[in-house]
Amino acid sequence: MKSNLGNWMLAAAVLCLSANTSWAIDGGKPGKAKPAPVKKFIDPANMDPSVKPGDDFFEYANGGWLKNNTIPAKETSWGSFLMLRDNNKRQILGIVENVSKTSASQPKGSLQQRVGDLYASAIDTVTIERLGYNPIKADLQRIDAINSLDGVVNEMVYERSNAIGSPLFSFGVRQDPKNVSKYVVGFGQGGTSLPDRDYYLNNDARTQRIQTAYKQYVTDLFTLTGTSADVAAKNANTIFGIESKLAQAQMSRVAMRDPNKTYNKFAVSDFSKTTPHLNWAQILPKLKVNGQDTVLVGQPDFYKSADALLASTPVEDWKTYLKWNILKGSAGSLSSPFVKAQFKYSSVLSGQQVQTPRTERSAQLVDGALGELLGQLYVEQYFKPAAKTYMEGLVANLRTALGERIQNLDWMTAETKARALKKLNAFTVKIGYTTKWETYNGLDIARNDYFGNLRRVSNWSYNEMINRLGKPVDKTEWGMTPPTVNAYYNPVNNEIVFPAGILQFPFYDFAADDAVNYGGIGTVIGHEMTHGFDDQGRQYDADGTLRDWWKAEDADKFKVRATQLANEYSGFVAVDTMHVNGRLTLGENLADLGGINVAYTAFKKTKQGQSNTKIDGFTPDQRFFLSFAQIWRGLQRPEATAQQIKTDPHSPGRFRTNGPVVNVDAWYKAFDVKPGDKMYLKPEDRIRIW
Ligand SMILES: [Zn+2]
Repeated sequence: MKSNLGNWMLAAAVLCLSANTSWAIDGGKPGKAKPAPVKKFIDPANMDPSVKPGDDFFEYANGGWLKNNTIPAKETSWGSFLMLRDNNKRQILGIVENVSKTSASQPKGSLQQRVGDLYASAIDTVTIERLGYNPIKADLQRIDAINSLDGVVNEMVYERSNAIGSPLFSFGVRQDPKNVSKYVVGFGQGGTSLPDRDYYLNNDARTQRIQTAYKQYVTDLFTLTGTSADVAAKNANTIFGIESKLAQAQMSRVAMRDPNKTYNKFAVSDFSKTTPHLNWAQILPKLKVNGQDTVLVGQPDFYKSADALLASTPVEDWKTYLKWNILKGSAGSLSSPFVKAQFKYSSVLSGQQVQTPRTERSAQLVDGALGELLGQLYVEQYFKPAAKTYMEGLVANLRTALGERIQNLDWMTAETKARALKKLNAFTVKIGYTTKWETYNGLDIARNDYFGNLRRVSNWSYNEMINRLGKPVDKTEWGMTPPTVNAYYNPVNNEIVFPAGILQFPFYDFAADDAVNYGGIGTVIGHEMTHGFDDQGRQYDADGTLRDWWKAEDADKFKVRATQLANEYSGFVAVDTMHVNGRLTLGENLADLGGINVAYTAFKKTKQGQSNTKIDGFTPDQRFFLSFAQIWRGLQRPEATAQQIKTDPHSPGRFRTNGPVVNVDAWYKAFDVKPGDKMYLKPEDRIRIW
């Protein structure tokens, strides 16, 4: 909920892993020496010994688990990541349930009052059902009264500046990538509802099914607010028509991976000249933006098309579209018929079989809305300071390892190497949780007003974002909340960030041997570090500025190698006949390959890395690679996989395992992979980048 950080950071490891949550998180006690592991951190029961590691490493490492598990009906995938997320969600739910019992009597505005009362309001279904769609009636009536194009534009700006809808375009305040100590206003493409432009423009069977479900969803919501069935169905076609035209004008996700293409600075008056029906000098103050002479525009051509569409489409159609923006933004917060209609649609997209329980959704909502209040309670109860100490050492070891690897690259000149090392040494590292908790000053939460709470949260977040303009950049901000099972690299701050939530098994365990921890959280750290040098990240320099620091010959050599990796991943078939998009996933795949190499180099400096002592039948090197495969263990519904392939820069877990290891010499040696094995690549065909 904290502004729009998401647009500007390259989030890490997102999908499909597996944590055996029945294991104790802390198996050992702190003492003089680490006790011998008592749990099997690499459990042969989760493997499939009938598969040769060189034929399909993912199946060999995870086949037993894959056979013995199914995806819970309320989930769209299940595995290491999702199981740990589920664990953290249950912990959060426990906290908010507990706090909500006494929050009504706490001082107004206190942490307990706001966390507890927000949760209490979200599960107050008696009030929510009684209100039906009353909370949005005034919005719908306001739109009914519009009778001109000016009125349409005003409503678009109103919905945006009150954070109650996102019609036509996207908008936010962010660091200027070419002047990172300043915040700037940024405009981007938008205005559509389906997860990607392809969903409007393609017409294969899977896409058609989703288009039909989407139109039914629009029809259902209009019907629920009193529109006749005929008119509601007509509205669905009107909206699909407008959104299809916007989709046509949008850049593809692959094209947008080039940060220079999406960096277009305009004087406000020049931007207005490109959009005759949108006068930005008048619009900016209505967005609460004052004193800005220039704006950044991600996709200038999109704005020209959107402006032309504005003029050529009847006002009545825009009113329908604006109502839809209110409806889709509110459906999940209204009475059960609205919530059910929303789930019916989203389940066609994702394959999810039953709705997540309201209690769980409500606890997640508190994490999204008041994450740095709830986060304080979470880390107090669940974060082990020992994990942070271990992480600091691990990050230092990996930084050294990546530095050595850069020094030793055979394809890069000394000049570019020196700049790469400067960037590596400048990384900021954040572990666990923020050093400066957000106070949410001025945000009121009322126990009996769920919808009002949501509106106040949206409003507060919008104002918080706008108020950054003209102020120094706050580098203590976090883009993820403490219980999050994830990590990220943020190029404009040149920082790597690891929330408390991921510092648990199977990523990290105090009692585990180094092979398991380096193969787990070590590869995640290496992944985030490598993002600083992937196809996007490499274009930002040591202080986060979007500025080319590469000698041309080095950049050319990097691009040749990156293309090889893109081609490798484009060969993977994920579902039906859908291939992984090697260009969309290039940054993540580069980070995965760099991550495993850097972590392995660091691991080989440890005592265990230099020994041959087996644990549970596996050598140290085998345990390192098996731990890596274990974090990507998971099952996924085909609908969710199809959506991931179209929208997500991360490859499915199977390919995140097999894709990197075939390029790592040590993996061949550890598992005696030979010519004739299905995954075997000749040494000269292995891709070597970072
Ligand atoms: Zn990543």
